[in-house]
Amino acid sequence: MVQLKQQTYREYLQGQFGLAAEGTLTDFMARQGDDLIMGGRLNLTALARRYGAPLEVVYTPQITAQVTRMGAWAEQARLHSAYPGRLLYAYATKANFAAEAVQTALRAGAHYETSAAPDVLIAHGLFRQGLLPADRLICCNGSKEPNYRDAIRNLRLAGCTGVVPVLDDLDELADLLETPLPLRFGVRERAAGNRDGRHPGSDRFGLSAAEIVTAAERIANSHHELAVYHAMIGSQIEDEAHFLATLRASVVNYCHLRRRTPSLRYFNFGGGVPTSGYRLGFAFDYVGFLTKLMTTIRETCAAYAVPVPDLIGEFGRYTVATHSVYLIEVGATKTGQGENPDWYLLNGSVMVSMPDALLVEDQEFVILPLSGWDRPVKPVRLAGRRTCDSDDVYPRPERAPLMLPDSGAGLVLAVCGVGAYQQMISGRGGAHHCLSPEPGRVIVSEEDGRLVSRYVPPQDQATIMRLLGYQPQPASLPLNPDRPIREPVPFRVPATYRTRRISARPPRLVRQVATGD
Ligand SMILES: *Cc1c(COP(=O)(O)O)cnc(C)c1O
Repeated sequence: MVQLKQQTYREYLQGQFGLAAEGTLTDFMARQGDDLIMGGRLNLTALARRYGAPLEVVYTPQITAQVTRMGAWAEQARLHSAYPGRLLYAYATKANFAAEAVQTALRAGAHYETSAAPDVLIAHGLFRQGLLPADRLICCNGSKEPNYRDAIRNLRLAGCTGVVPVLDDLDELADLLETPLPLRFGVRERAAGNRDGRHPGSDRFGLSAAEIVTAAERIANSHHELAVYHAMIGSQIEDEAHFLATLRASVVNYCHLRRRTPSLRYFNFGGGVPTSGYRLGFAFDYVGFLTKLMTTIRETCAAYAVPVPDLIGEFGRYTVATHSVYLIEVGATKTGQGENPDWYLLNGSVMVSMPDALLVEDQEFVILPLSGWDRPVKPVRLAGRRTCDSDDVYPRPERAPLMLPDSGAGLVLAVCGVGAYQQMISGRGGAHHCLSPEPGRVIVSEEDGRLVSRYVPPQDQATIMRLLGYQPQPASLPLNPDRPIREPVPFRVPATYRTRRISARPPRLVRQVATGD
């Protein structure tokens, strides 16, 4: 007799994505026993138990892993394609300016890409502190207002030879040419931005072919040099064949310019390298992509008899998307109307925590339940309970609902892929939509092979009120109505996740743990 049984969440994942409930789920998340484990070491289930949800978990070793992996893949691709040049990995800091993100990428060996004046000030500070080593390039992109140019000039005058203004128009050039110390310049190819017609908006960046020739001549007649050719196609790298076909025209342009500009030695293909943070079952052949990219460039350069350039990639979302996760709890459920799926009402806000869910068509995030894997799976939609905005939903109404365990209230979800852009777009530390407060944040990093953490408490109401110009309220509301505000508990790395390396100078938190207080 066949017994009809509802599919469990575990069976759904297996059937839909071929994922087992034990082991690897993505390249940054795994499940061991009943726990979700980030980066092979950090137990999210234990963190949710300790701190409650909502909680932001920032795990910086993931950034190191991303940078290191790409270096190894590039090395393989170099061998496969017999490419004599290097790939320089730059972190596009606009994806996440948080100090721990930028500094972790730099420690992993990344170069730097800036998008605005304050970004150069950050780089300048890091350069002064020795955290941004002198051998790193700092590619300065975007349209440059006078303060952006000043920041670049000041960084160069402070002794940083790696700062490369990538020209967006000829006025910038006229101004920066007056820098007394020699600068290395880049030119950004305007045609690359929307050659395929798929990126309206990207064609506002960079110089026309004629302007590039003018810029090259002016730089050649100065004490500066032209070093970088920047051609960013946009974020279509997942469509690899299309990307390479589109890029080839830029490589040809590079070759023409290289023939008259011997100082040109870098080809920068910009950002758009994909990441596993946004959907389960994600697969991308990074080595294959880099091999084809290098082969295309090597062959094109050979055809034009110019030496191959070193490559620069500007990795934004790839670097940081997967290093942070929101743990958000289903606070209540509501039956869907008619045929519509039920609502899972979150003790947070989709709009505030993942604004790209609204801003970017087709934007998805990997969302995994912390428990309920053996419960029946059912279609649901998430809604932010802390705003009363009809747009505060995920997935968007026109998209298929999410499949989650039917556990309802109390289910904690790990919303992944939120480490890039989300916080920068939503703002950090401000007053948010419907005054949705920012959750507490645990920042876990690695020191001497051990995980150490610090806890930043949730945003409190008085701070938000002050920002809006109110006098501090005599009696503040607890921000997390179902739970009293907790005292931050020092985080202990579970023994199983501690590595056994002995360090001469253990970090403070680890010492506390080691001595049992
Ligand atoms: C935003 C940006 C990047 C980073 O793009 P990702 O898709 O996040 O990797 C790189 N280069 C430039 C010029 C950018 O504007």
